[in-house]
Amino acid sequence: MELIPSFQVDHTKIVPGIYESRLDEVGGDYVTTFDIRMTTPNIEPAIHPNAMHTIEHVIATFIRNDSEWKDRIIYWGPMGCLTGSYLIVKGHPTPAEICPLMIRAFEHCASYTGEVPGATLLNCGNYLLHDLPIARYEAARYAKILRENPCFEYTKTARITTNEGMTFFDS
Ligand SMILES: [Zn+2]
Repeated sequence: MELIPSFQVDHTKIVPGIYESRLDEVGGDYVTTFDIRMTTPNIEPAIHPNAMHTIEHVIATFIRNDSEWKDRIIYWGPMGCLTGSYLIVKGHPTPAEICPLMIRAFEHCASYTGEVPGATLLNCGNYLLHDLPIARYEAARYAKILRENPCFEYTKTARITTNEGMTFFDS
């Protein structure tokens, strides 16, 4: 199979949306990594760590129980920069095909009430680091963007090389 080269993204031109950031071949099938980008990096406020942790728990639980997609979900987790999350799925769907799942997931989070799933001493590595009200606010904001004006295409630029000669990757 032909693989697209992974690319560095011009972070000064990112707007919230859904982007394919990697395409890998594993065991004869594709594995696709999506950037689920919730805020404009370095311009809008990043997601608060507590809210991002709650979004991680609520949406991981939702997508791993989604009847259409649960068998294709490999990974869901937050970006270290707190401007979004990574979604890794089996196969090679397009961002537009992922978008309805993300709208369902973020609308679920936006209206979620009750205990955050897994936010207990037994199930979580930092169970007090949660904020459901802010998670709901951020999820509602992003779901609205996905419904009304989703962006699916990154602006690309050259990868940088570190002082030690290594190529930089952020995912
Ligand atoms: Zn946790």
